[in-house]
Amino acid sequence: MIHPARLAIATVALVFAAELGPAIAQTSLTSGGPVDPALIEDLVAANRILAEEGVLDAYGHVSIRHPNDPNRYLMSRSRAPILVTASDIMEYDLDSNPIDPQDRRSVIERFIHGEIYKLRPDVKAVIHSHSPAVIPFGITQVPMRPVAHVASFLWVGVPVWDSRDAHDPASAGMLVRNAALGKSLASRLGDKPVALMRGHGNVVVGPDVQIAVRRAIYTEVNARLQTTAIAIGGPINYISAEEGTARDAAATDFARAWELWKKKALGK
Ligand SMILES: [Zn+2]
Repeated sequence: MIHPARLAIATVALVFAAELGPAIAQTSLTSGGPVDPALIEDLVAANRILAEEGVLDAYGHVSIRHPNDPNRYLMSRSRAPILVTASDIMEYDLDSNPIDPQDRRSVIERFIHGEIYKLRPDVKAVIHSHSPAVIPFGITQVPMRPVAHVASFLWVGVPVWDSRDAHDPASAGMLVRNAALGKSLASRLGDKPVALMRGHGNVVVGPDVQIAVRRAIYTEVNARLQTTAIAIGGPINYISAEEGTARDAAATDFARAWELWKKKALGK
């Protein structure tokens, strides 16, 4: 349950479209309503954590599905993730139209988020990054597979999406700059937690933003470790499907990692 007082604070902090009659008249899109500030704080923290951990640089973005309206999502305006604050968070419909843009510029590749939310009702958070260590696995014939227990969730397989597979006029530009490219990528992701984007980066999804962040960080770590294992040579003793399944079902103490990452990222 969200305390009414917190909702009131969120309304003031985020200045959502619900408070701005003229903006609604212009767009005819309605807001999903105010959001618990604690959730917005986690979204801001996610941006900064992923930048600090080397997953995001000046580019890349994190979104969450609106907690009260599954047809809306929340994401920062176009801004380097390490600089994101609560006032940068914008609301979108699933066609990736901003609800109340004001003067804020949206990220070009926002269609990644809207199209994944359309196809995956289970997904509550989406991360797109140019996670550097994953790039080799999107351009070679070696599939990414889990080599460390922290990345055991990759046991289900990591599909690779090639923008050219979409046969869209914008494919050669490699950025997901329209809904057709976003839908193609979302289809390639399927029911998996991670998909690589050839020569570009990846998308990582989760049932909440904390789990999505954990997956994004350990996908990058796993890519580095798998590359090292390949360089050492010989057969690789990967994390097995049995182990991956068991770990997916097991309780974790992830809360302590989130506490640490958030403290480092927000300084509190
Ligand atoms: Zn990108």
